Amino acid sequence: MLTTEPLDIADIVGVPVDLATPFDYLTNSDTDADNAELRSARRWAWYCKDPACPKYWSSWSCKSNFWLHLYETDVHRADVRTHTRVGRRELAKEWRVETDWGMEEPKQPKPTLGQNGIASGNE
Ligand SMILES: [Zn+2]
Repeated sequence: MLTTEPLDIADIVGVPVDLATPFDYLTNSDTDADNAELRSARRWAWYCKDPACPKYWSSWSCKSNFWLHLYETDVHRADVRTHTRVGRRELAKEWRVETDWGMEEPKQPKPTLGQNGIASGNE
């Protein structure tokens, strides 16, 4: 005598997790808002321009990752410029560098230290 097997609930695959977290969403829209100031095919890269930072002259294409770096790094947390929203915004503006959309242009040359922070680019 045939019997109908009960449904095996364990086989039901869970609802796929949406990988776009709210944080990433904010990240992208924030970056996009800044990039909208530029011509098409151009974008900003945010540089860490504090020589005291262990990640000095690293660059981020995503503004919120740059914020996160400021937040995670003691040097920046001690920096009064990061203590206010306005200060952080000013800092981001000061440290961002325009580049091409694919980020294929060479990075901005790193200034030679010991010259009062004045960049000695080879233009
Ligand atoms: Zn830094």
